[in-house]
Amino acid sequence: MVQAIVGANWGDEGKGKVTDLLAERSDVVVRFQGGANAGHTIINEYGKFSLHLLPSGVFHQRVTNIIGPGVALNIDALLRELKALAERGVPAPKLMISDRCQVMLPWHPEMDKYEEERLGKQSFGSTKSGIAPFYADKFAKVGIQVCQLYDEPLLRERLAIALVKTNCILEHLYHKAPIDLEWAVETLLRQGEQIRDMVGDTTRFLAEAEREGKTILLEGQLGTLRDPDHGIYPYTTSSSPLAGFGCVGAGVPPRALTDVICVTKAYSSAVGAGPFVCRLPGPEGDELRRRGGDAGEYGATTGRPRDVGWFDAVATRYGVMVQGATEVVLTNLDVLGYLDEIPVCVAYETADGQRITDFPATPVLMGCKPVYETLPGWKTDIRGAASYADLPENCRRYVDFIEKAAGAPIHLVSIGPKREEILRRD
Ligand code: GDP
Repeated sequence: MVQAIVGANWGDEGKGKVTDLLAERSDVVVRFQGGANAGHTIINEYGKFSLHLLPSGVFHQRVTNIIGPGVALNIDALLRELKALAERGVPAPKLMISDRCQVMLPWHPEMDKYEEERLGKQSFGSTKSGIAPFYADKFAKVGIQVCQLYDEPLLRERLAIALVKTNCILEHLYHKAPIDLEWAVETLLRQGEQIRDMVGDTTRFLAEAEREGKTILLEGQLGTLRDPDHGIYPYTTSSSPLAGFGCVGAGVPPRALTDVICVTKAYSSAVGAGPFVCRLPGPEGDELRRRGGDAGEYGATTGRPRDVGWFDAVATRYGVMVQGATEVVLTNLDVLGYLDEIPVCVAYETADGQRITDFPATPVLMGCKPVYETLPGWKTDIRGAASYADLPENCRRYVDFIEKAAGAPIHLVSIGPKREEILRRD
């Protein structure tokens, strides 16, 4: 059984919590794209954690955690995360890194920063963790794979080719000092040694696990609308956070995918640049931001305040459709318990006055305004509810509304950040 957990929207939907929960019942958890540029918040018996690169199964001893070939592997960041877990009493997780995974080169984060500076006001809201330059090099075929870290002459040859281009950009576009080839070789050889014990053929491992009927979880980062092809380009990330890509980035055949679990919040939140039709300005937005998540809506990696707004049915239905969700998990429902009435965005009005319900491409999206409908609130703190039936009627009606709007069944509803704060609806 291969399940993908992915985001329906802009990311930060609460996937970490859901993955942590499902990881308990899984044999393997795989990260298939992205890098240390986003965070999953997990609150469990060891405390509160923000995982960036590590798969969310690291808290469960029986789970094999895999960093798949689609990931942007920042080795220093990975080692820091492992050390932080150990320092907080988490037993060393089982971790395997694909030998085909590519390595974030030490200058990628710097180049990301220089590029954002160059773009100024027109920047794309990068987390400056090197993701865009990393994937640019990967697809230009000047990247470095983990397996190349163990063959010094090959590594030197590959780096020499890559650095001609990189140094040209550094010196002539950004006016910075060039990278020294020998320093680069030495740094990468050292990094390779630090992870040597964890490197292996994860594709074969996964094929075997699948054949043996093991439960495999593919853990997505960010959400549909940050997909470079189907999202709000260019305000996207540089790898695909779609379940469909999960098969490629992890290394499992598409026919093996049994479930696509798409996570969405009971309201909207987004961090970074780009169109966000439901953005709620002023004190209303400030209050929602303050009450959202486990400690307000602030980016798990960057600490940046997230933009917030009411639930966006147009964006979510599109996100669920593109992911091909077999079910939706609704999170953060408890956050809305302070409201008399809850607006939900049911359509967009385009710049030329048309009412649309299908999520448009970016140029049209930029001019859209939200069209709201209002649902009655439930004015109760629902954290601590023991069963779905115990939720107030208006709260259950709100979930019914979202299920219909999203277009896929909701079986799980999260009513607080902790692992056990989740209710089965059916
Ligand atoms: P991810 O990247 O999709 O894993 O999402 P994040 O972890 O970045 O953001 C989700 C935020 O919501 C975190 O602060 C979580 O602790 C929090 N969270 C998750 N589920 C719930 C919930 O049901 N209620 C509340 N209040 N917070 C939640």
